[in-house]
Parts: sequence; C-alpha cells; structure tokens
Amino acid sequence: MARCSVCGLEIEKPLKTWTVVVGKNRRTRIIFGTFLCERCRRKFKASIGRERLQSEPKAKPYPPPHQTMYV
Ligand SMILES: [Zn+2]
Repeated sequence: MARCSVCGLEIEKPLKTWTVVVGKNRRTRIIFGTFLCERCRRKFKASIGRERLQSEPKAKPYPPPHQTMYV
C-alpha cells in the first residue's frame, strides 16, 4: 500500500512490483511498487517494504548458486 503524494489517496494494489537488493553484503531487499492513483491518474513509485536477508552461516563460506542470483 502506498499513498499518493498529490492527493493523499491510499492505493492498495501496485500495478507492478520489483525488488532491489542493496547493502554492502547485499543483505537488504527493498520491494518497490508502481502505483496508479485513481483520483488524479498519476503514476508513482514507492517502496512498500524491506526485509533483511538471512546471513550465511559461517560454516559455509560460499553460498549455493541459487542464492547468488540477486537482481
Ligand atoms: Zn492522487
């Protein structure tokens, strides 16, 4: 959910979402969404959540291949 910066309407469903992994150790994932305000017909982007990725256990210095596919 995001709030339109122009009229303040809350939009529940994003048109589209994507995630970006940031941070030195790529441990924080931010979820972004594109929203369309139904009142003023304005499109805007907003971050709608963030989560910390689990850190790798120290016994495993190299993450398995499927965990390196962050985009
Ligand atoms: Zn609006």
